[in-house]
Amino acid sequence: MGLPKKKLSTTRRDRRWVRYKLRGVALVECSHCHKMIRPHRICPFCGYYEGTEVLKVKEEKEE
Ligand SMILES: [Zn+2]
Repeated sequence: MGLPKKKLSTTRRDRRWVRYKLRGVALVECSHCHKMIRPHRICPFCGYYEGTEVLKVKEEKEE
């Protein structure tokens, strides 16, 4: 099985996340509530993904 040959040092492991500090994580606009959300993920605010409601989000205040 694919096992890494060498243990990644703390520095090299943490270097992987440096780009997110510089640029921030990728964000797209939710097609339903137009908030900024992570791509390819169910919207945490309205529970919609690709135009369909897949999750019931509590505390829905807008009617
Ligand atoms: Zn949304």
